[in-house]
Amino acid sequence: MTWDFETDPDFQRELDWIEMFVRDEIEPLDFIVPHPYDLTDPVRQRIIPPLQAKVRERGLWACHLGPELGGQGYGQVKLALMNEILGRARCAPITFGCQAPDSGNGEILAHFGTPEQKERYLRPLLDNEIVSCFSMTEPQGGADPKVFTTRAELDGDMWVINGEKWFSSNARYSTFLIVMAVTEPDNPPYQKMSMILVPTDTPGVEIIRNIGLGYQADEDGSHAYVRYTDVRVPRENLLGTRGQAFVVAQTRLGGGRIHHAMRTVGMVQRAFDMMCERAVSRETQGEMLGRKQMVQQMIADSWIEMESFRLLVMRTAWRIDKYKDYKRVRTDISAVKAAMPKVFHDVAARALQIHGSLGVSKEMPFSAMLIESFHMGLADGPTEVHKATLARLLLSEHRPAPGLFPTGHLPTRRDAAIARYADLIEHEVANL
Ligand SMILES: Cc1cc2nc3c(=O)[nH]c(=O)nc-3n(C[C@H](O)[C@H](O)[C@H](O)COP(=O)(O)OP(=O)(O)OC[C@H]3O[C@@H](n4cnc5c(N)ncnc54)[C@H](O)[C@@H]3O)c2cc1C
Repeated sequence: MTWDFETDPDFQRELDWIEMFVRDEIEPLDFIVPHPYDLTDPVRQRIIPPLQAKVRERGLWACHLGPELGGQGYGQVKLALMNEILGRARCAPITFGCQAPDSGNGEILAHFGTPEQKERYLRPLLDNEIVSCFSMTEPQGGADPKVFTTRAELDGDMWVINGEKWFSSNARYSTFLIVMAVTEPDNPPYQKMSMILVPTDTPGVEIIRNIGLGYQADEDGSHAYVRYTDVRVPRENLLGTRGQAFVVAQTRLGGGRIHHAMRTVGMVQRAFDMMCERAVSRETQGEMLGRKQMVQQMIADSWIEMESFRLLVMRTAWRIDKYKDYKRVRTDISAVKAAMPKVFHDVAARALQIHGSLGVSKEMPFSAMLIESFHMGLADGPTEVHKATLARLLLSEHRPAPGLFPTGHLPTRRDAAIARYADLIEHEVANL
C-alpha cells in the first residue's frame, strides 16, 4: 500500500537546504543578473558558476538526469519537490543545471545524438559551458507544425537550410540551435521534417530581432526571430534519422511540459504567499483585508486551486516514475499542461487585485506573472490543443451506449434491477 503524501526525512533535509540556498543566495540575483543564460556577462560569470559549484558539491546538480549523464537519477517526484522551490527565482534552474530549454535539448541529444554530437554539444551543455536553442516555431504558425516551410536540402555532404523561425528562445546566447526543417517534402505530413544541429555562428544564421515579453524592456528580449539563408552544415549534423523530427520533438516535450508545471507550482505559491501577506497587513474600513469575506473567498479559492494543481503535478510525476514511459502518461501531462496557465493566471490576478494600485504597478511582479501565465499556455503547445488531446484520450476509453438510452438512464436501470431481484421481491410480497 503506497498512498503517501509525505517526503522522506533524508530528502526533506535536501529540500530545506535548497530552500535556504535559493532564498539567501539566488533570489537576490534576479535583481543583479538580467540574463542568466548570457555567458558573456562578466557579473553573471563571477556569481553563478561558484554557486553552481556549491550545488554540485551538495550532489544536486542536473537532477533531471540519470547518473550516466552526471545527474542523480532522482526521478520526477523528487524533481517536482525541488523544482517547486527553483521555480520561485529566475536564476535558480540554471544554478541547479536543470533549466529549460537546455534540459530538453540535452534529453534529445542523449537519446538521438551520435557519440561525436554528444561530445561536442551534450557534454558542454550539461556543464553549462554553453547554452542552446530549440528553433521550431515559424512566423506563420506554431500550434500546427504541418505549416512549417523551413527547408533543408542536401548539397553533396552538406545540408543547406533556408527559412525563418519565430520565438527561438535564447538564440542570442546559444552556441547551437536545434532546427526543425522539411527534408522529405514528399513524405506524409508527420514524416516530412528532420532535426538538424546548427552552430549559431554558422554564416547565414541571422537574428532579425529579439522579441521581449509584455513586461520586459525591448532590449531584454530573448525570443529570437531568426532567418536562415543558405546555412550550410555537414550531413552528420542530422539529429536522429531523416523524417523523424516529430519523434525527436516528443522526446523533449513530455519532460519539458511537466518540468514547467513543477516550476509553476513554485510561482503560484509565491503569488499566493504575497496575497496572504497583504490580506493580513492592509486595513480598510477599520479591519484587515483578510476579514472581508470576498477577500477570504479569493484566498480560499486560490488555495484549493493551487493545491489541486500541485497534487495533479505530483501524481503525474509519480506516474512517470512508475511507468517510465511518457506515452502512458500523455493524458496526465496534457491535463497538467492545460491546467497550468489557468491556476497561475487566476492566483496571480487575485494577488494583484488584493494589492490594489500597487498590484498593477511596476513595483510588484504581478503583471509579469500574468504574462508568464500566458507563456505557460503557449510554449510547448497551446492550452486548446492539450485540452483537445486530453478529451480525445479520455473519450477513447469509453464505448457508445448499447441501446437508444444511455446506460445511466434511471427507468432502464430500475427495470433491470427489478428483473434481477424479481424472485426475491415476489417471495417477500407473498409473505406479507
Ligand atoms: C515565452 C515563449 C517561449 C517560446 N519558446 C519557443 C522556443 O524556444 N522554440 C520554439 O520553437 N517555439 C517557442 N515558442 C513558441 C510556441 O511553441 C508557440 O507560441 C505555440 O506553439 C503556439 O504557436 P503560435 O504562437 O504561432 O500560435 P498559433 O499557432 O497562431 O495559435 C494561436 C492561438 O490559436 C488557438 N489555437 C491554435 N490551435 C488551436 C486548436 N487546434 N484548437 C483550438 N484553438 C487553437 C490558441 O488559442 C493559440 O494560442 C515560445 C512561445 C512563448 C510564448
